[in-house]
Amino acid sequence: MPAETSPALPFLPFALPEIGEEEIAEVVDALRSGWVTTGPKTRQFEGDFAAFLGDETRGGRVHCIAVNSATAGLHLALEALGIGPGDEVITTTHTFTATAEVVRYLGADVKLVDIDPATLNICPKAVEAAITPRTKAIMPVHYAGLAADMQALLALARKHGLKVVEDAAHALPTTCEGRLVGTLDSDATVFSFYANKTITTGEGGMLVTRDDALAKRAKLMRLHGMNRDAFDRYTAKVPSWYYEVVAPGFKYNLTDIAAALGIQQLKRAQAFYEQRCRLAAAYDEALAGLPVVLPPKGQPGRQHAWHLYVMRLAEGAAVERDRFIEKLFEQGVGCSVHYIPLHLHRYWRDRYGLKPEMFPHSQRAFERMVSLPLYTRMDIADVERVARAVRVALA
Ligand SMILES: *Cc1c(COP(=O)(O)O)cnc(C)c1O
Repeated sequence: MPAETSPALPFLPFALPEIGEEEIAEVVDALRSGWVTTGPKTRQFEGDFAAFLGDETRGGRVHCIAVNSATAGLHLALEALGIGPGDEVITTTHTFTATAEVVRYLGADVKLVDIDPATLNICPKAVEAAITPRTKAIMPVHYAGLAADMQALLALARKHGLKVVEDAAHALPTTCEGRLVGTLDSDATVFSFYANKTITTGEGGMLVTRDDALAKRAKLMRLHGMNRDAFDRYTAKVPSWYYEVVAPGFKYNLTDIAAALGIQQLKRAQAFYEQRCRLAAAYDEALAGLPVVLPPKGQPGRQHAWHLYVMRLAEGAAVERDRFIEKLFEQGVGCSVHYIPLHLHRYWRDRYGLKPEMFPHSQRAFERMVSLPLYTRMDIADVERVARAVRVALA
């Protein structure tokens, strides 16, 4: 074994959260406060998130609605938009199943479309071709942290009278024509704070919208369809036990324990972002000249959040993807694949009779792609170690 792949190095996992003393202290504060479910910390986190999106300078019209997952937020957004049986929602096949499953929760149907082979984002031409009289909404995913072609997608939505709900699980902080994702002209944007996302609350998400009616409905449905939540009732001038159930809602509220993490993680979001950019640039440099396709870069005004660093094995690379991943693992490097496209999963394949030939770009990218470790607790030496392992695996 070459000396450069010394087995003495500890395993480098694919992802790790960065939780510091500030987060721990904020969680302890929530625990000691006596209020552990949705309450003051969640309210603060929602307000901080609006401030992060620059809401004050935009007239303070944004609603940030904390939920216990991005999946919950996507479900609430579509429900509030009235998506239901008989409707179709278009999304990318190259995503996590959560993006699409929420459409089925509501009894509507999913139209999966192919991606742009350069950006791996949903292809607006494929979206246009998939529109039918039943189409009600488009759900772009800002894949890996690079914004989808929102200009084209929003134009299509306007032309055909469709709603747009952005799956922004990878997109904190991503920009599109100089504007942060979360401030674009879609109907709703949903962020994820799952353990491996760019900021984490363990589990959690944020539904962002400027549509007052959507926000009102989503807040109601977030907590059992009750017209007043426990914290409202507890803090009212005259504490009140009274509430009405006005709809069969869900249990999607975020706890104050999780929100405490979010408050401190959000403060570090910019520093985390800068570290991710440094690591991604170091990968680009260290992998240059190898038989790999590097991920698309951010551009001025199109800031890449670098949730994922997705390389692809080039045409004619000496190794297949699965073997390549094994070889990295043998050298103590964890990696992953984002994603096994939905058209290959049994449920989606069988329900809609999908075949790989219908999604040539996603299929081809999937067969050659590998997500390398990228998280803020890594340093440049870790990147160089992964790059050495990549070189060995390609040899
Ligand atoms: C992580 C993720 C989700 C789901 O987020 P949760 O907070 O775990 O529900 C949805 N879509 C994409 C693209 C994701 O990566």
